[in-house]
Amino acid sequence: MLLNRRNFLGWGLGTLAVSAPRLLGQEATASNGDEAQHVGCLVDTTLCIGCRKCEEACNRRNKLPHPDIAFTEQTVFRQERRPSAKAFTVVNEYTGAPSPDQEWMKETYAKVQCLHCLIPSCVSACIVGALTKTKDGAVVYNPDVCLGCRYCMVACPFQIPAYEYDVVLTPRVRKCEFCANFVKGTGADPACAAACPTEALVFGQRSSLLTLAKDRINRRPDRYVAHVYGEHEVGGTAWLYLTGRPATEVGLLAMPTFSPAHSTEAIQHGIFRYGIIPFAVYGALGGLMWYNHRRTQQSCKPDSESGQQVQEARHE
Ligand code: SF4
Ligand code: SF4
Ligand code: SF4
Repeated sequence: MLLNRRNFLGWGLGTLAVSAPRLLGQEATASNGDEAQHVGCLVDTTLCIGCRKCEEACNRRNKLPHPDIAFTEQTVFRQERRPSAKAFTVVNEYTGAPSPDQEWMKETYAKVQCLHCLIPSCVSACIVGALTKTKDGAVVYNPDVCLGCRYCMVACPFQIPAYEYDVVLTPRVRKCEFCANFVKGTGADPACAAACPTEALVFGQRSSLLTLAKDRINRRPDRYVAHVYGEHEVGGTAWLYLTGRPATEVGLLAMPTFSPAHSTEAIQHGIFRYGIIPFAVYGALGGLMWYNHRRTQQSCKPDSESGQQVQEARHE
């Protein structure tokens, strides 16, 4: 599909020009910039009521397709969902109270989206710089230089980036971009945080959110697990979670404190430093793209609204 949408040679030359700085040895791991300036969002799962207003707001903000199942519908909780090319964020339901002091509640809800890692593996894995980290800390995507290799999807430890397998001519990698353009310079909340009726989502500077989270833990040790998920996981993430039960019980993956980006960066630098000609890499990628396209065509059903087919294809 990518070979159809772009003239491969023209694309190869153009992409080489765009990525030349990286091929010549520029740091592959994203610059963290001034972390004090980074924005973040605190998710307090003890306050989430599973209303899915955040999903709806995200859908509208990003002009995503209207879902088959209405946002007011709770039956979606019957199975755990992952973000997809048509839903950048989803809320999942887990059996059991959100915290020990909320025994009357039968379920816990947790929102999922890109966590905007401080050292993002997706950025590190992308050899053409289609994914970048802004000075605010948002990890954003430029489809104009994306070659469709989907290394970012493999590299992301949270399995977040999704691919528009059902778009024939110009498929993109899709994920939450932290409403980066919307928020930039306006002080406005991301759409999901603005829509949350219970303040389960709090947008602000990451450093302030960490202080807020620890303050809540100190004030209510009976409610919260004494751990802010995302403070150190994979080197730290912009999205932070407070939970009243172990994080892994509400869909948050156990992660090391180091970022996998260091590995992908080392591989990337090794390739270019030791002289594998970039065009040979691109040629191999072209073959991979063609092969993946064939496999995707064979395995994907035409309508992947629910995202399940996308997931199936991604995990082949
Ligand atoms: S969660 Fe995945 S997609 Fe998001 S910034 Fe981190 S590595 Fe990239
Ligand atoms: S920050 Fe924006 S793009 Fe990301 S989940 Fe929230 S509404 Fe969606
Ligand atoms: S809008 Fe807030 S309370 Fe409602 S599901 Fe999303 S995070 Fe939970």
